[in-house]
Amino acid sequence: MEYKEIIYKTPVKEGLINHDKTYRDFEWKAVLDHFECFSNNEVNIAHEAIDKHATTNGKNKNALIWEDENGRQKEYTFQSIKRQSDKFANVLKNIGIEKGDRVFLFLPRIPELYIGIIALAKVGAIAGPLFSAFGPEAVKDRLLDCKAKAIITTPDLNQRVCEIKEQLPTLKHTILVDSGNTLEEGEVSYASEMNKASESYKMRWVDPEDYLYILYTSGTTGKPKGVTHAHNDMISQYLTTKWVLDLREDDVYWCTADPGWVTGTVYGIWGPWLNGVSQVVYDGRFDTEKWYSIIEKQKVTVWYTAPTALRMLMKAGVKAARNYDLSSLRYICSVGEPLNPEVIKWGIEVYGLTIHDNWWQTETGSIMIANYPSLPVKPGSMGKPFPGICAKIIDAKGKELPPGQHGLLALKRGWPSMMREIWGNRDKFDEYFRVSDWFATGDTAYVDDDGYFWFVGRADDVINTAGHRVGPFEVESALVEHDAIAEAGVIGKPDTERGEIIKAFVVLGQGHQPSDSLRDDIKGFVKNRLAAHAYPREIEFIESVPKTRSGKIMRRVLKARELGLPTGDLSTLEEE
Ligand code: AMP
Repeated sequence: MEYKEIIYKTPVKEGLINHDKTYRDFEWKAVLDHFECFSNNEVNIAHEAIDKHATTNGKNKNALIWEDENGRQKEYTFQSIKRQSDKFANVLKNIGIEKGDRVFLFLPRIPELYIGIIALAKVGAIAGPLFSAFGPEAVKDRLLDCKAKAIITTPDLNQRVCEIKEQLPTLKHTILVDSGNTLEEGEVSYASEMNKASESYKMRWVDPEDYLYILYTSGTTGKPKGVTHAHNDMISQYLTTKWVLDLREDDVYWCTADPGWVTGTVYGIWGPWLNGVSQVVYDGRFDTEKWYSIIEKQKVTVWYTAPTALRMLMKAGVKAARNYDLSSLRYICSVGEPLNPEVIKWGIEVYGLTIHDNWWQTETGSIMIANYPSLPVKPGSMGKPFPGICAKIIDAKGKELPPGQHGLLALKRGWPSMMREIWGNRDKFDEYFRVSDWFATGDTAYVDDDGYFWFVGRADDVINTAGHRVGPFEVESALVEHDAIAEAGVIGKPDTERGEIIKAFVVLGQGHQPSDSLRDDIKGFVKNRLAAHAYPREIEFIESVPKTRSGKIMRRVLKARELGLPTGDLSTLEEE
């Protein structure tokens, strides 16, 4: 939906002053000068993000300003994050974690999560942040796939790990934050190990191509895939944070995303700290009052959030916003789903600021297409490609399509933060490059005459619910494990608040009758197995799931029926 209005900007003096000119002249290698140690290919992102600032004038500046739902608060300077992460790096070394080992963090958004990620980078290990809402099955799939050696968790969440531990032969260590005295075999207490650990740690320098983190993400088929990123990502992370999020030295920045989602790892840890900026972390659920009170209390200046949250704030009304002093805010960005023009309009009215949409994916490792402080905004558009990023719209054969025509959104391979591997699965990795050298994003879009990109939808069946990417196959697999279910087909159903919700069509096995209590039972079952965001909010009992002759579920038929649209070509349908 193109919005005719254009929001023009006042000239900016810092950051990306002129997008189009910079885009024409840009070279990634110029960014290397920013880093202290790219000279001999011996790098470590933790040095650039934390240690470097801890030895300069910024050492007493807050790196992390943390609070939780219960009002507990903590502050950590760059120097204290350095000290804590040095100690924790020693703990990791002492228990035998080595370069290249996969170590998962199954934690709420507590300071130890952030210290843990930095410490893992310091030993050269590969960090795997997990949503604390994950059920045992989701945790197992990830740890099993990349043969994780250790997990850092809390006693509470460890109960879920214990359910699946026997199926994880490579998992040798569990590090328990806030543990009591009783520890099982293979478990160590974070607090007591930290007490014993030395504060002096010698950085493990790595090659820029060595892996830094792994995040599992969904496609249409199969289990989630392990998207793996390297230390080299810091080049893109640093510059996109500076130019898209417009972070400056004295900002107080709040990224609302959890590190279980790539936005929370890249722009909720690395990006701001590579820029030496103080960031706020709130460990708690969405709550209008709480969110506004954080902005007021911490005097947040730059805020990076998601459309679903903004839509919920909009629903809460203008009055809710007026109860707080939000005048510290100077810049707002949004990512993860299409940002409705009406939300942008509302933002201008209520916050007095334009909300800047940007687009990227777990696989791209950093923002690819964005609205910038200096660039006029066309509400509803994702903006223009970041300097150094070549994006185009192509057809299935790789032919570039002219402005206005819908097609596949593709990126020219080779930017610094492009994923390096789908863990242990070369075929899945190659699938992204099936159209010559172009990385196929899986999204459809179009570009207008001025070079602005407009999101159209997914080219596949992947569901985007409140910014969470969910593969229908995962949900269908969990559903058919329920005793009452014989078959299931899952789609994303448009929803005004969450973008899409998960809707499941299920066929019951013999002897089972549809009922509301069965519906609730099924929802709870999927929630416990996968995650709180991955359960079907709607369940419809049907007689049979439409399938191709080769047995593939025809989700487009389910979707068309749901939306009352023509079902299209049904020639491959098993029956009808
Ligand atoms: P994830 O890898 O989980 O961050 O999901 C990436 C996907 O989220 C993209 O491929 C898009 O489908 C969607 N997405 C991310 N940002 C936007 C945006 N600004 N507008 C529309 N869709 C978006």
